[in-house]
Amino acid sequence: MTARGAVVHWARDAADANRVIVDVARTHAVDEVVKVKSMVTQEIDLNGALADAGIAAWETDLAELIVQLGDDLPSHILVPAIHRNRAEIREIFLRRMHEVGRPAPTELTDEPVVLAAAAREHLREKFLRARMAVSGANFAVADTGTLVVVESEGNGRMCLTLPEVLVSVVGIEKVVPTFAELDSLLRLLPRSSTGERMNPYTSMWTGVTPGDGPQEVHVVLLDNGRTRALADEVGRQALRCIRCSACLNVCPVYERVGGHAYGSVYPGPIGAILNPLLKGTGDPQTDSLPYASSLCGACFEVCPVRIDIPEVLVHLRTQVVDARRDDSVPKPEAVAMRAAGYAFGNARRLRWAERVSGLAGRALTRFGRSRLPGGRAAAGRLPGPGAAWTGARDLPAPPRESFRAWWRRTKGGRVDE
Ligand code: SF4
Repeated sequence: MTARGAVVHWARDAADANRVIVDVARTHAVDEVVKVKSMVTQEIDLNGALADAGIAAWETDLAELIVQLGDDLPSHILVPAIHRNRAEIREIFLRRMHEVGRPAPTELTDEPVVLAAAAREHLREKFLRARMAVSGANFAVADTGTLVVVESEGNGRMCLTLPEVLVSVVGIEKVVPTFAELDSLLRLLPRSSTGERMNPYTSMWTGVTPGDGPQEVHVVLLDNGRTRALADEVGRQALRCIRCSACLNVCPVYERVGGHAYGSVYPGPIGAILNPLLKGTGDPQTDSLPYASSLCGACFEVCPVRIDIPEVLVHLRTQVVDARRDDSVPKPEAVAMRAAGYAFGNARRLRWAERVSGLAGRALTRFGRSRLPGGRAAAGRLPGPGAAWTGARDLPAPPRESFRAWWRRTKGGRVDE
């Protein structure tokens, strides 16, 4: 890269990367930048760092523009605004576009083609004015020093060619050794992400070409926890991810809870392993992510680079449990598991527990006021640590009779009940 005229920076963490980018912007006295392929810049909260330095950052991908104008967060790797419908997008455009640039036309409808045209007009003004762009990259090729962006709207091409200065932030796991490897990955990615044989726009840039494109190119190689993930012998396979999003699309948990529930830039099954690997265990938010899975294995089946996500999930769960094994105050889950282990460890204790549970079931059925659809009794809001569970979920009343009692009474179902 340096041989082809780019300036390469190494960023240990988000603060390092943001400092480099803000410095470049200040050197050129720019007060706005256009952005493309910016998942990694969301990871380091570049927009926040630029805003603190008085520099406006404009997202140019249509979905990311919707997310930015809506003061929202992305909910999907490939389709960041998948949680918004067309009426909401129209409302966001009418409400926000005029505050930050070319207003949306007053006759704006919620037709997709009309919304896309409004976004195009709004963005074109920014493309033609901006003197600096910030990009991510899908891949970086080591033997030629080439960076690659794969996208479908053409905004990448505008960002990567029009401004005078380009800063590309690239996670170090994006590096592939040669162009030959790039070839297979470029065929693999669109097939797994959108089902296309080829994506509409593939832009490649290698340093600076006099008289053509940006005349100053900076590449920020970002670690931000990637070497930590690499040191984990089981977890390091997550660094193979090409962000195709196939695992999100088949995940039953993601389908139910949506991307925002993961509380991180990378949602879904890959997010559930990547975030704890990048940040390490010990944070309640990342520690909860490996549990956001049914371990059904669908993510592993569809992953084009064969990341065994269920294996890494179980491995990370072990790390989370081990890290808390010596806590002086055990977590409620640990107490519940120990109590269950005690009851299941002895037939008499289990019988006793079944009897208590049956009595609780009878009492709830008789006196409880909460009912599930279908009429089954449920516990209302529990006190203490149970409140965190019952505040958002129903807790069905335990059955009045245990399976073993039913088996004894009906001789395994041979006697009519
Ligand atoms: S983990 Fe596999 S399926 Fe999921 S986004 Fe990455 S490459 Fe695609």
